Amino acid sequence: MAPSLHGATKAAQALGRIHEPHGEVIPPIHLATTYERAPDGSYPHGRVYSRDANPSYDQAEALLADLEGGSNALLFGSGMAAATACFLALKPGDHVMAPRMMYWALRRWLVEFATPWGLAVDFFDNEAPGQLDELKAKLRPGTTRLVWLETPANPTWAVTDIAAAAALARAAGARIAVDSTVATPVLTQPLALGADVVMHSATKYLGGHSDVIAGALTTARDDEYWQRIRYVRNSIGAVLGPFEAWLLLRGMRTLYLRVRAQSAAAQRVAEHFVGHDKLVAVLYPGLGNDPGHAVARRQMSGGFGGMVSIRVKGGAGKAMAAAARLAVFKRATSLGGVESLVEHRASIEGPTSPCPPDLLRLSIGIEEPRDLIDDLEQALAAI
Ligand code: PLP
Repeated sequence: MAPSLHGATKAAQALGRIHEPHGEVIPPIHLATTYERAPDGSYPHGRVYSRDANPSYDQAEALLADLEGGSNALLFGSGMAAATACFLALKPGDHVMAPRMMYWALRRWLVEFATPWGLAVDFFDNEAPGQLDELKAKLRPGTTRLVWLETPANPTWAVTDIAAAAALARAAGARIAVDSTVATPVLTQPLALGADVVMHSATKYLGGHSDVIAGALTTARDDEYWQRIRYVRNSIGAVLGPFEAWLLLRGMRTLYLRVRAQSAAAQRVAEHFVGHDKLVAVLYPGLGNDPGHAVARRQMSGGFGGMVSIRVKGGAGKAMAAAARLAVFKRATSLGGVESLVEHRASIEGPTSPCPPDLLRLSIGIEEPRDLIDDLEQALAAI
């Protein structure tokens, strides 16, 4: 497929590959765990064992690398498997930095697993106006090996300037990896902004239908760090099943359609509830007065994503009561599917969470936006 074609075209046709010998426009699912060795001991087809790589990954990995503008991509058994591989590919004694407000399970893993394992982990306050000053001050040139970013960041959608953070990281000799799950390649391309690796919980927008747990990494360069990441995937077996890889590629064909619609609907929902008398705040980088708006306008194009959070007046009890009244939104964890979800994050994340207790996270799906607004209005009116 011509490299100059738009990402939407490449995604819709999954790079336009046709599969021989039957000329299928959809790839088959390859179930084999192992591959034949020639009498001379070589592997003429290039693959040895499916814990290393399965042909069912090829098209999704190639498509993702293309959409992200990377040189290589790897699928993983989950977003957490992909994210933790970036840290496990480092060495005990290395220093890493991560944002304070981020996907909670990864923050917890950094504290409860990576730290005892031997990484020195520092957090910077990615909601503060001076977040880059704090990042710069805490970088340890020569020792900091990885700066992790998540933008927009769960669940307040704080925005970090990827290009500026990448320049700081590079000056200190560190790599930069970005959890771009919420932005997706449709809205942001972190590698073009200076990132080394992009991570996705492919469970979310890439898959898009709440039916596959998957993760992905894309790299700017196939270097020694990337080879270590590949080794981590293989050695701990953090691989995706062939059927899941197939489902993921099927989902990715409609990625642009979904993300554009979800971003437009999220913008509409966010704007509608600004200044609502039952709310303390609406958190969405697409709002003109959002602290991250100026940077988001620079590094996101085509929309600001499908995730909105609202903070309900009266605290956690009122937030839970509003969630209980919602009928169109489904109360469930996760995000990025075609159906709208609501979640009270603080109660999921537990006592160490920095998430405000009055916050409800809304994952906007592809329903008629008016139905979502009416559902939220009736729920807030009832509390
Ligand atoms: N990163 C973000 C931003 C997420 O929202 C999630 C899951 O909610 C993850 C990473 C982890 O992904 P998974 O659940 O696929 O392991």
